[in-house]
This record gives sequence, C-alpha cells and structure tokens, in this order.
Amino acid sequence: MTDFAATKAMFDLPDGVIYLDGNSLGPLPRAARRRVDEMIAREWGEMLITGWNKAGWMAMPMRLGERIGRLIGAEPGHTVLGDTLSIKVYQALASALEMVPGRRVVLSDSGNFPTDLYMAQGLLESLGRGHELRVVAPGDVAASITEEVAVVMLTEVDYATGRKHDMAALTARARAVGALTVWDLAHSAGALPVDVSGAGADFAVGCTYKYLNGGPGAPAFIYVAPRHADRVRPALSGWLGHEAPFAFDPDYRPGAGIERMRVGTPPVLQMTALAAALDVWDMADMADVRAKSAELTEMFMAGVAADCRDLHIVTPRRPEARGSQVSLRFEHGYAAMQALIAHGVIGDFRAPDIMRFGFTPLYIGESEVQGALTILREVIAGRLWDRPEFKVRSAVT
Ligand SMILES: *Cc1c(COP(=O)(O)O)cnc(C)c1O
Repeated sequence: MTDFAATKAMFDLPDGVIYLDGNSLGPLPRAARRRVDEMIAREWGEMLITGWNKAGWMAMPMRLGERIGRLIGAEPGHTVLGDTLSIKVYQALASALEMVPGRRVVLSDSGNFPTDLYMAQGLLESLGRGHELRVVAPGDVAASITEEVAVVMLTEVDYATGRKHDMAALTARARAVGALTVWDLAHSAGALPVDVSGAGADFAVGCTYKYLNGGPGAPAFIYVAPRHADRVRPALSGWLGHEAPFAFDPDYRPGAGIERMRVGTPPVLQMTALAAALDVWDMADMADVRAKSAELTEMFMAGVAADCRDLHIVTPRRPEARGSQVSLRFEHGYAAMQALIAHGVIGDFRAPDIMRFGFTPLYIGESEVQGALTILREVIAGRLWDRPEFKVRSAVT
C-alpha cells in the first residue's frame, strides 16, 4: 500500500495553498531543487562539455524514457524523451500515416486538445496528398473507425472534461479495420494505470510536466510499438536520431528502434529535474494512486452536487469513465477561479466556461478536498467572484 503521507513529504508545497492543478503543472519535488543545483555546480560548472560523456547527459533521453515506459506499460527500450508534446504528436502521426499509404483519413475527436488537432492540420497540409482530418464527437469515435481510416489519433483523457476513452477497446477496433493508433497520454501518464503494450497501441506520446511533475517545459515522451520500431521513418530526421550522430555523415540513416525518434540536443537541466521527480514512483503504486484518485474526485463531485447547484459537473461520475480531474461548468467560471485562487485554492480555467480541478493523491488527500469544498461553497454562495479584479483575463488561464 502506498504511503501517501510519505509521497506528499517529497513535494515542496507552499503553506496555505490547496493545489488542485497538478494536471496542468505538477508541483516542485523537493529533490529536484537539490539535484538541479548539484548538476549545475558539479556537471555543467566543472565538467563543461565533457559532461555529455562523463555525466551521461547524452543517454538521459533513453534512461528516463525507460522509467516512464514502466509507468505506461511499454516494453523496455521503446520509449524516449525529447522536444515538446506538440512535436511528438506531429512525429508520431507523420510516421503512422506513412505506414498506411492507401488511406486518407485521420480520425480524432472534438474533445482533443487543440494543439493535437492543429499539428495534424499542419502536417496534412504539408503532405498535400488529400488527407482529411475527421473530427467526431467523443461518443462517436468507435462507430467512426472504418476501413477508410488510416490513423486514429486520440487523447485518452479529455483535458477539458476529464472523460476517459477505453483505450484497449478503441485500439482493438482500429486494428480490426487495419488502422493505426496514436494515443496522447498527457492526462494519463502518472494519473492512472496505462498499458500501451497490452492494448496494442502503435504510437503513444505524452508530457512530463503534468502528473509526472517534471517542471515547466519538461520534455515530452514518445513510444513506438516494437513491431514498428525498426520500420518507421522519422519525419523529423534530426542528427540525434541518426544511426551515428558523431560520424557527421551528410546523409540521414535512422538510428536503431526508438532512438530514431530523437531529434536534437536534449534539455539536460529539465531532465535532471524530471529524474528527481520520477523517484516518487519508487514509493507509489499506480493502482493505489488510481483508487485514491477515484475516491477524491468522487468526494469533490458529491460535495459540489450537494451544495453548489449553480455549478454543472461535466466529468463522468462513473470512476472508470474519467481521469484524475473534475470539471465544472459555470457561466462565471473564469472569475470564480480567480476568486478561488485568491482564497488559496488553485485550479484553472478552460474557455469558454470550464473550471478544472486536478486531484493528485501523491500530495492531495481528503482534508485538501474538504478544504477546497469549503472555500468553493463560500465563493459561489457569497458571489465572491463578482468583483472587477477577478474578471481581468491573464494570458495563461
Ligand atoms: C498539455 C497537452 C499538450 C501540450 O503540448 P505542449 O507541446 O507540451 O505544449 C498537448 N496535448 C495534450 C492532449 C495536452 O493535454
């Protein structure tokens, strides 16, 4: 059984704050501060460029990929870190499309995160081969996986509503009609058990700054199923994905397996923080995290349903149908969230009217949920949000 008091002690959380936004940016792991300080002093400062070899910087994308691979059910040696998630979506989709040359449809859903759809739109336009991005309602995805579809590109857990797709069932359906799958695990990795291998996913991508607590700007990850790993052509053929980067060969030859999905110089400082953040998983069991998350999200929804009639719960009440967040629709959601933040409860807002709250058992427990509910009741019942300063929109919401 995971000791959640012990995992909570591994994070540096400010006093007087209930942090319900770990689904957007995980908090600072205490060890990250020390490890980054040490890395700067001993490695960058003293080793200078020899750190690439001596401190093993160049091997970090594979080494950390290995640790993340364990959290998503990947076969060893088939996950690598680098770039941003937007780039990894592009790369996975481009490689997948080349493997299904006779088909022209990329299927996604209207709950997908905009950047995933934007990257697909840009890629399909660059390809110029008449591909169509078909975006259907989340509930219509299964029925829309037909023999026209080349690639099914989905995010397992909807960033706005928290609704969760059945990854195994949809992947099986795609395989049955000869389509490939690209799964975005941005709101899954570190939040719930994932089994890319068991599901038979072809490609998976995700970020490490949300539930994996790697810090703002931490690199993304990509997984390619072993059956494809030595066959895929990386659309972004960067030098670090070359078979022999330091041969400085003018012609590109892809590296072995997942290494070919690397592009350029890895972000060593960010990976140092991420390595420290991943240590928490040595103490936590994902099944325990999932069970606790189901309890905390249900407790929050029950409190909202009982006392905040103006707020509409858009997250599924069935635990297996949601991720680790609760989303509430409220006409004055932006101002209400600013009022909550001013009163020490941090969540976030997604246009046009969604208030999001992430529940991360590694450092959030029942007392935080009850504390957040108390403040939410005050903000809603007392219309504390109805002040001009809470209605001024910042760049990041
Ligand atoms: C958070 C998130 C992103 C963010 O992409 P970046 O390139 O890291 O900014 C992309 N897709 C999904 C589904 C997300 O939840």
